[in-house]
Parts: sequence; structure tokens; C-alpha cells
Amino acid sequence: MEKKQFQTESKRVLDLMINSIYTNREIFLRELISNASDATDKRYYNALSAGQSGVDREALAIEIKIDRENRILTISDSGCGMTEEELTENLGVIAKSGSLQYKTEHADEDMSIIGQFGVGFYAAFMVSSTVRVITRSMTSDTAFCWESSGADGYTVTPCEKTEVGTDVVLVLKEDTEEENYSEFLDSYRISGLVKKYSDYIRYPIRMDLEKRRKKEDSDEYETYYETETLNSMVPIWKRAKGEADDAAFHAYYQERFMDYTPPKRIIRTDAEGMVSYSALMFLPSAAPMNYYTKDFEKGLALYTNGVLIMEKCQELLPDYFSFVRGIVDSQDLSLNISRETLQQDRRLKMIASGIEKKIRTDLEDFLKNDRAGYEEFFAQFGLQLKYGIYMEFGANKDKLKDLILFRSSSGDGYTTLSEYVARMRESQKYIYFASGQSAEKLARLPQAERVLDAGMEVLYCTEDIDEFALKVLMSYDNHEFRSVSEEDLELPDEKKGDTEEATREHQELLDAMKEVLGDRVARVGISARLKSHPVCLSTQGGISLEMERVLSAMPGGEGVHAERVLELNPSHPVFAKLVHLHAAGDEKLKSVTALLHAQALMMEGLLPDNMTEFSDALQDLLTE
Ligand code: ADP
Ligand code: MG
Repeated sequence: MEKKQFQTESKRVLDLMINSIYTNREIFLRELISNASDATDKRYYNALSAGQSGVDREALAIEIKIDRENRILTISDSGCGMTEEELTENLGVIAKSGSLQYKTEHADEDMSIIGQFGVGFYAAFMVSSTVRVITRSMTSDTAFCWESSGADGYTVTPCEKTEVGTDVVLVLKEDTEEENYSEFLDSYRISGLVKKYSDYIRYPIRMDLEKRRKKEDSDEYETYYETETLNSMVPIWKRAKGEADDAAFHAYYQERFMDYTPPKRIIRTDAEGMVSYSALMFLPSAAPMNYYTKDFEKGLALYTNGVLIMEKCQELLPDYFSFVRGIVDSQDLSLNISRETLQQDRRLKMIASGIEKKIRTDLEDFLKNDRAGYEEFFAQFGLQLKYGIYMEFGANKDKLKDLILFRSSSGDGYTTLSEYVARMRESQKYIYFASGQSAEKLARLPQAERVLDAGMEVLYCTEDIDEFALKVLMSYDNHEFRSVSEEDLELPDEKKGDTEEATREHQELLDAMKEVLGDRVARVGISARLKSHPVCLSTQGGISLEMERVLSAMPGGEGVHAERVLELNPSHPVFAKLVHLHAAGDEKLKSVTALLHAQALMMEGLLPDNMTEFSDALQDLLTE
């Protein structure tokens, strides 16, 4: 019999297939079932357009048979079939699928991911030593058998087949020490693969499943076979409104994403237009254990026409919405898509942008209509939204600024920035914030006292990211953010002249104290903000004490330093004492200065930087 040669390109690709570089061998089944489904579509629509009504979709089933003895797996369809010419045309030349090209060009890179994409009919050679395609076209009375055992070519011969359609017969490779091919002769493994990749194929996929039952009137068991439809056919996201209720979606979510708890919220969208897609997404109730670690992988499952392309398509979700789980199904993407082309695919980009917008508007809606629910959600994932503001140099800040919440001096709950602004005093220019470990501590921060006393609200930045997010935002609704620890608070009814005059008057005292403290402070000054406390620490320049703490804990951030200012309260009795000591030239000024500096540090939750000096100064004072 004459052996025909594959085209050169096909031959190279076939070599790759046969040598099975694709780690994801199991996708061969998905490819063959998708081909069977495409062929059945053609037959169905052909019949419809020829005016033959009453073609029953149920009757157009795809069947899988396992012959364990002969190591044969058969996938049969009653689709359009192929003529002799079509066989040569379709199976003699490999489809120029993007992923195959990518694979041949990047042969030594990590290819595990590539296996997720379509590789077409030739994927059969990953698991088979011989592939036979027995087919009868709907336009022909003769059936043909295409057969190949690999790269050395294929034959096409006439054969017997009574029904229109195609049987793809795979003779599985023998097992080796490293590779197990017999797994594809296990009916439960096959049915699992159908569920995983082909659950939403619109035709029933049937197989005989081996079962055990008790014999009648006997204690013995017997094996019997029962034909079962393996796929559920209609994806839950395609069901019309009202057809599936929340409980069904919750059950789907819990099973699909292996979560014990039902989702906090369901986000659904069906888009039509330049590109059509359906998305079914969920906000989990709780952040997964690894959510804030490097191990976490974001992404939505990507389907085309109900066939799974990949489990986690990262391109579909921006980092700031990485907590969303779900699926996207688009009929406008092809199964034969490679990772490389996927990343550049215009349609995928359009889908991603539509999805980003949908999630955003849904979160806005969530915040507006279910405040308590949103706050619970925010407690789990709010940090990510704040990171989103900070990341990419603030490129997304405007999209996210109304979705973030803060604690504040206005009460126990959370506030949005717009709610803060709505409560601002008329004369108030800035949005004030204080940074520290907890809201309780911040409420007692001396620097916050004047601001609070002036009847203004203070945002509490209790998370490491908070202050960074505000820095990137810079302002909200034309009001700049201002730390209560910053030097100049510009409170509405502040009398600047007073402090300036006091500074001039006591300059020598301030200089003397600065000399005692040396490099530990950039300056010692008269405070305009203190009321009942004698001293506090503030910072000048862009870096606050809180930022210094966060940054210096990060690799590479060791040298980061806040410029500290020791502020003195000129109306406090302690100040009068300082003035007195200085005027008398008393050496005690040194220990009092050291003590006051230590006190200011402790108010910030920091330790005095020299414990010996601190205790010496304290003793000095006690033994006066
Ligand atoms: P693709 O499905 O992307 O076109 P494949 O390599 O999977 O690429 O298949 C090549 C071609 O072979 C198909 O386009 C189709 O014309 C034909 N073909 C494959 N399987 C079948 C089948 N079961 N019935 C009819 N035609 C088929
Ligand atoms: Mg195909």
C-alpha cells in the first residue's frame, strides 16, 4: 500500500507530539471531543439549512468506548464525516496552530503552560502508537480509513461504515517505566477528563461505566455496564435568569473552587458587541490562606464555547482585583490559541477591560447598597485595593479611590474618603490622618489633639499600606492629605504669629537642646499643635515615622530615615522649667532634654534610643 507523506511542517510538529513534550497529555481527549462536536455542529446546521427539520440533538451523541484488552480508546461521532479528499486535506497537513509554532521556536523553555492550549487532532499522537480515523461523509456513500503510526506517513483506504460520522480509534502506547498510558483505559479517569474539559459540550458524551451490584437472591456481586451521559451540557453561566437560583450558583462555586464557604457575592455579566462573552464571577467570603503570599495565583478560568482553554488566565484580572474567582466563556476565541498569541490577543484584552469595569461597578454597587456586607468583604480584601492604588505608580488610583475604607476618629466603623469630605468643616483645607498600629493608640496621639479639638476628623492609617496609598493619591476632591505629625498643620484658626514670636524669643534655648540631642533630631521647635502634652515628635520632609518603620523593615530600605522635629508646648509648665534651667545655665537642662525626647519617642510607640542615658537622666531628676 502506498504511504503518503505528511507535509514537512506537519512532520516536525508530529515529532514533537510523538515525543510528547507536552506535559499536559490529557488534553488529547478534549481536542478529539471538540473536533467531534464541531463536526456534529456542521451536520446539524447542514440538516437545518437543507430544510430537514426534526434533527434530534440528543440523537447526535458522541460516544467513547474503551477496549482494555487491545488498549484501544475510540471516540465516535455522528457528525459530518470526511470524504477521501477531505481526509488528506484535513489530516495530512497540520493546522498552523499558534502554540505549535511557539513550541518549535522556544523548544527549551518551560513548556508546561503550553500544554493548556489547543494542539488539535495531532494531540492524539501524544498517547497513541497508531491512530485510525474511520469516517463516512454526509455527502458520500463510501467510507474511508485514514491510518498513521507517526511521522513516516499515513494511508487512506476504503472501508465499511454504515452510518455517517467518524470514529477516531486510538491504539494507546505501551506503558514504560516513566510513562503510564493505561490510565486512559480507565473509564473513571476518562469520565473525569470529560467533566474537566468538555462538560459543556452541547451534545451528550456517552460512555459505558463499569458498576457493581448485588445479584438478585444472592450475596454475590456482579459487574455490569451502564451507559451514562458524562457531561452536563448546559453551563450554569448560560442558564437564563430565573433558571438557576443563588443556591445553585453557590453550590457551583463551592464545588468548582473548592471552598467550604459560599461566596460573599455573585457577579454575572453577558456582553455582546465587538466581542461576546459571559462571565460568572464570585467574591469569596474569606481570603484564601495563601492570598497575601507569592504562592497565590490570580486568574479566571477561560472557556471558548464551553470548552476549557485554561484554568487560570491571569490576563483577565488586574492585580487589584486578584481576589475574584470565576470563569469567562467567549465564542470569539479559538481553541487553538497559544499563550503568546493570547497575551496579545485584542479580543482577550477587550474582554479583560470589560470584566475590570464590571467588577468595579459591582463593587461600587455593593458598597452603596449593602454597607455591612461590603465592610466584611473589605476586611478580607481591602488591603489589595489599597495596594492597587499604590502599585503601578498610581495608574489606577482614580478607579479605586472610592472603593477604599479607613478607620477614623468619627466612630467605630469605616469611612470612605467621600464621607470624610462631606463631614469636613467649612474652613478645613486638608484631610488629616494619623499613622500607627491601632485606632485606640492614634486617638491618644498628642499630635492629633489639636486637630481633634478643632472639631476635625482624623483618618487612622493602621495598615502599613495606608499612608503609602494616601501619598500616591495626594488629594481627594481637591483636598490634600496631611499627616497630623507633619510640621505645619495649617489648622483654620491657628495663630502662626504666636509661635514665630516664641521661636524668636527662645531661639537660644532651642539651639541648646538641639545640641544635646545631636543627630537624633533635625530640629527642636515651638509647637502650635500641642495642648495638654509638653512635647511631641513630628517629621519634616516626605517621610513619616510610620513610613520609616515600614520601609526599614523591607529589604533595601535600611537607610530610610524620617527627619524628626522635637516640638515643645510653650504654654506647658515644663516649658517654663526649661526656660528657667537655660537662663540659670543649669547642667540639668541636658538630662531634662534627654528625658523629654525619650518621652516623645515613647508616645509614638518607640523605645528611647539610649537606655543608659535615659535612666541616668531619670535618676538625675529623682535625686534632685
Ligand atoms: P481544528 O479543529 O482547529 O480545525 P484539528 O487539527 O483539530 O484542527 O482538526 C483538523 C481538521 O480535521 C478539522 O478542521 C476538521 O475539518 C477535520 N476533523 C477532525 N476531526 C474530525 C471529525 N471527528 N469529524 C469531521 N472532521 C474532523
Ligand atoms: Mg480541533
